[in-house]
Amino acid sequence: MSMVCGKNFRHVCKKCNWRHTAQRETIYKIICGNRNHPAVEEVWKAAREQLPAISLDTVYRILDEFYRAGICGRFQYGDKMIYDGNAASHGHFFCLNCGRISDFEFPAGLLSNAGSLGKITEEKVGCTGICRECMASGIISAQGDEK
Ligand SMILES: [Zn+2]
Ligand SMILES: [Zn+2]
Repeated sequence: MSMVCGKNFRHVCKKCNWRHTAQRETIYKIICGNRNHPAVEEVWKAAREQLPAISLDTVYRILDEFYRAGICGRFQYGDKMIYDGNAASHGHFFCLNCGRISDFEFPAGLLSNAGSLGKITEEKVGCTGICRECMASGIISAQGDEK
């Protein structure tokens, strides 16, 4: 069940047996064209620029559909649900200073030990720190404080 984000959306709809709607297409484009790990509210905000009447509930429902179809990833971060246009296995670097969430790759099979303990239903591989950009800005000298 891996479907790479960025494919022709009509194709995706056909494969998933979905009706091709402007709402689905708009959200698909937002998620796939965006590697910033938006929260649901941010996706909603972007979607409203094109579809002013779209409701937050609809955005939730469509994102949930996409997640179940393997189009995007998602994870809980603080009190937010974050959606990720990169559905492949990867880790996250959380910057304590600017809040940026960056992707990093890890070697295939990294989670095979975990898999021997049971069925993995959600992957969470990550670390917190100060990102390169913040380090370079010179504002941060040592560890930042958790927000
Ligand atoms: Zn940063
Ligand atoms: Zn990611």
